[in-house]
Amino acid sequence: MSNYKRGTNCLHAGYVPESGEPRNIPIIQSTTFRYGTSEAMGKLFDLEAEGYFYTRLQNPTSDRVAAKICALEGGTAAMLTSSGQAANFFAIFNICSAGDHVVASAAIYGGTFNLFAVTMKRMGIQFTFVDPNCSQEELEAAFRPETKAVFGETIANPALTVLDIEKFAKAAHAHGVPLIIDNTFPTPINCRPFEWGADIVTHSTTKYMDGHANQVGGAIVDSGNFDWTKYPDKFPGLCTPDESYHGVTYTERFGLGGAFITKATVQLMRDFGSTPAPMNAYLLNVGLETLHLRMPQHCANALAVAQFVKDHPKVAWVTYPGLEGDKNYETAQKYMPNGTCGVVTFGVKGGRKAAETFMAGLKLASIATHVADAKTCVLHPASATHRQMSDAELEAAGVSPDLIRLSVGIEDVNDLIADLAQALETV
Ligand SMILES: *Cc1c(COP(=O)(O)O)cnc(C)c1O
Repeated sequence: MSNYKRGTNCLHAGYVPESGEPRNIPIIQSTTFRYGTSEAMGKLFDLEAEGYFYTRLQNPTSDRVAAKICALEGGTAAMLTSSGQAANFFAIFNICSAGDHVVASAAIYGGTFNLFAVTMKRMGIQFTFVDPNCSQEELEAAFRPETKAVFGETIANPALTVLDIEKFAKAAHAHGVPLIIDNTFPTPINCRPFEWGADIVTHSTTKYMDGHANQVGGAIVDSGNFDWTKYPDKFPGLCTPDESYHGVTYTERFGLGGAFITKATVQLMRDFGSTPAPMNAYLLNVGLETLHLRMPQHCANALAVAQFVKDHPKVAWVTYPGLEGDKNYETAQKYMPNGTCGVVTFGVKGGRKAAETFMAGLKLASIATHVADAKTCVLHPASATHRQMSDAELEAAGVSPDLIRLSVGIEDVNDLIADLAQALETV
């Protein structure tokens, strides 16, 4: 499949039915798999034979969908998780333990920030958050001897900052650690971080990949490019025997292409069980089949909407990385010349009150705690997800009180603009 273009892989990668087999990826809704002898089962448990035995670790439906995402990103191995949160947790925890440290961009999804700064901190893992636009020197200064990874989002949710992936990859590699990129917003249709030096990619498949608000899910993809064996002291979990699997050494048995995902599957899935339901993997695949058609439409609609609000007298400011003159435009052009994403943020003149009036006036766009969906949805963080914060606290968190996050869907853009226009009239 790797020779096909992305649009073809959206439909065909990961599953090629044999003669007489189902045309669609079958939903293997079974917790367990039958074997003829205990010996055959034992070989699976020793990782000496390949096969399915319990869906908490692996399921054929999920694996086929993971293989499709792997092909789309151009990786060597991939796995699905039950959410984007689980994907980012696993990606970091697979190579970090208590006492370790991670350098992360400060412009990341709020849920990920909380996972890192609060919950993983309780596990003894420290994070240093850096301004994504920091200088080389500032980035260098964030590293410590116990740093094990660098993390960032291609396009940050909801700040819409575009990460200079090459700058972060260079710094990570100079310190002998991998760069992990959350590629949720652009999807591999618009950006493939491995082509710019990233080593591991994560996704919230809940967003564009599914695209129809059908399931919550995540994915991790390995490029196979990072050579863990060069730094065995830093990554003992990958380079030294795992006693919980009779002394298997992941890099030796599964190579650089397979070690990371195998370890995350057999250790982290086994112990945490953040497994997607086979039905959810199936639904995700239905979404993936049109990803290459939906992304350009999201981007075209979002650009038209951004241009409309930019020129509107009641709008104070607009941020969209695909909009000429935007502070992220140049970086976006480098990494995503064919389009960025469908999310636009803007402020209505009159602050928090005006934002609330505007939101109440919308008829087509629905108010929802969701982004990156076929149907346009909108959120005012100051009165929803960040409701408990004062205006001063909001500014400090980088969410201005008037910020409106508009996730532009794939409806007819004229109807979307008409809806925005009539809601702005009510302000
Ligand atoms: C939504 C989101 C997540 C979390 O994903 P869930 O599927 O909601 O767990 C992580 N990263 C980004 C960029 C997101 O937008």
